Amino acid sequence: MEKVISGIRPTGNLHLGNYFGAVKNFLRMQEDYDSMFFIADWHSLTTHPNPENIQKNARIILAEYLACGLKPELSPIYIQSDVKEVLELYLFLNMNAYLGELERTTSFKDKARKQPNNVNAGLLTYPTLMAADILIHRAEKVPVGKDQEQNMEMARKFAKRFNHTYGEEIFPIPQSFSFSGEMIKIPGLDGSGKMGKSEGNCIYLKDDEKTIKKKVMKAVTDGGPSSLNSEKPEVIQNLFTFMEIVSSPDTFEYFNDKWNSCEIRYGDMKKQLAEDINKYCAPIREGIEYYSNNDALLDRIAKEGAEKARESAQETLKLVRKVIGFK
Ligand code: ATP
Ligand code: MG
Repeated sequence: MEKVISGIRPTGNLHLGNYFGAVKNFLRMQEDYDSMFFIADWHSLTTHPNPENIQKNARIILAEYLACGLKPELSPIYIQSDVKEVLELYLFLNMNAYLGELERTTSFKDKARKQPNNVNAGLLTYPTLMAADILIHRAEKVPVGKDQEQNMEMARKFAKRFNHTYGEEIFPIPQSFSFSGEMIKIPGLDGSGKMGKSEGNCIYLKDDEKTIKKKVMKAVTDGGPSSLNSEKPEVIQNLFTFMEIVSSPDTFEYFNDKWNSCEIRYGDMKKQLAEDINKYCAPIREGIEYYSNNDALLDRIAKEGAEKARESAQETLKLVRKVIGFK
């Protein structure tokens, strides 16, 4: 089975966009591949986060992924900073990573522009740490979004360079991995095209029934259709897109017919949508509650994940040290 590694950014709570756009793919992946997941807490240091948040954020994200259905017995999940082996590989890879190529990456240039007073070396060598995360397990596939494509290109470059320098195929060349075509985008309900943390328009998996209802009832709508079977403007289409995902086909058809016959009442539709989102999220929300209040269980899962990851990492490091000359 092909080896797949996925990094998870420990930034706040999961929202419906994350869930349908990313987490659901992870759930499928754990069934079909030899996969591992890690929470990238070292990566978050490039922006100097508050020390109190580091562990808290990792735990939140761990609890939320478990609640979504990630099964640690199928695919280990670990916290990056629990696997120090990654750092040794990061050091080795940095010896063959060049200032020019690191400076040229878009993600570095973007970050340097955003935080001009904190253009640190960690930011510069972000691609080598990411390459180390992948190569430490000799992973073959990495599910990434478009924004990570350039960093994946760097990881391939570092892998090839290392293999070439030492004349041995230590690392497979990792490929970006996307799921068969069906990329979905969850819209925002505030009239913006996308639900996102930066957009501030998220429905979070942890939101309770009342919060969900409040957010959905505030969704932007228009004056209603003025002719039969008319095309839906974007804000209305967004409501229907949501409904298609969380409601039953019958419910969707019911409101679609109402739209087509110009009898739609947005208030009714939103109420139904809020109910269906709540129904969908309720078991996940309970799971989040359960894991968040069970520190011992979270500790055990993270520890077991780290043990499996370290085993795989140590095998790779043995080969790496040997070809470098540390015998
Ligand atoms: P930010 O605003 O900080 O970029 P975000 O809300 O967009 O945060 P990310 O952390 O960038 O969330 O995304 C994590 C994963 O969730 C990515 O794989 C991304 O493609 C996916 N994702 C985020 N928002 C959506 C969305 N609205 N629809 C589908 N997928 C999404
Ligand atoms: Mg984003």
